[in-house]
Amino acid sequence: MRFLTYQAEDGPRVAVKCGDDWCDVRSADENLPRSLKAILAAGQECLDRIAELALNAQRLDRDGLRLLPPIPGPQKIICVGLNYADHAAETGAKIPSEPLIFNKFPTALRADGDPVELPSVSDQVDYEAELVVVVGREGRNISRAEAMNHVAGYTCGHDVSARDWQKGKPGGQWLLGKSFDSFAPCGPELVTADEVADPHQLDIRLRLNGETMQDSNTRQLIFPIDKLVSYISQVCTLRAGDLIYTGTPPGVGMARRPPVFLQPGDVVEVEIDQIGLLSNKVVAAS
Ligand code: ZN
Repeated sequence: MRFLTYQAEDGPRVAVKCGDDWCDVRSADENLPRSLKAILAAGQECLDRIAELALNAQRLDRDGLRLLPPIPGPQKIICVGLNYADHAAETGAKIPSEPLIFNKFPTALRADGDPVELPSVSDQVDYEAELVVVVGREGRNISRAEAMNHVAGYTCGHDVSARDWQKGKPGGQWLLGKSFDSFAPCGPELVTADEVADPHQLDIRLRLNGETMQDSNTRQLIFPIDKLVSYISQVCTLRAGDLIYTGTPPGVGMARRPPVFLQPGDVVEVEIDQIGLLSNKVVAAS
């Protein structure tokens, strides 16, 4: 199934793809959960019910919808650094022996089509295409064997990074360098795990103003998704709707000679096979 969250007059609403159309989930049954996070928390039974009802639901004009991120208010946005071997090499870093985990504040989230704002306090804002895992079933201390049962689905993500904060500040400020408002575009759709034959066989690309800057495949992930879910869940409870940005392939701007940093007017597209296309324009800070 494919879901998106959109802004209606009465607040955020969830749409599901039915055939070639998009339908409003709760137009078929007002008792269904209001948010995609709550739908995922309710589990497979709820998804099955939506699939059944979707045929009777109200059709929507997809192009006329104001999109929100698929999960507008995740409890956590967890990110993985240096998770593609060739990206680690281009940054001069060693291949990590365990996943390198950091996070972003949820205020950084933006939808497909929303602007990425360049902060006035940085002049080294960089792009990173990433496959984003969306957690479904809650869990702690999840085994690798069980891990994929906790994955609800996938979406496209853009891990925007102020390199002068991430690397230049004393001690390196990964959290702050990655958490400026608008630094986590995500979407447009959540694709449920059953629709993706193998999440470790997906072409992933990033285009900057139409020019391909990153072009790889998720088979290059150093730590696969089951390992990441299991590893992170040793530390914290993973909740429905939590997002895991799984790392970026090579070709980022800071590794280029000369370096390429985002400028007002740029358009960044993240495209992942079977998952979708996330497009955001870059603007100067207001
Ligand atoms: Zn990243």
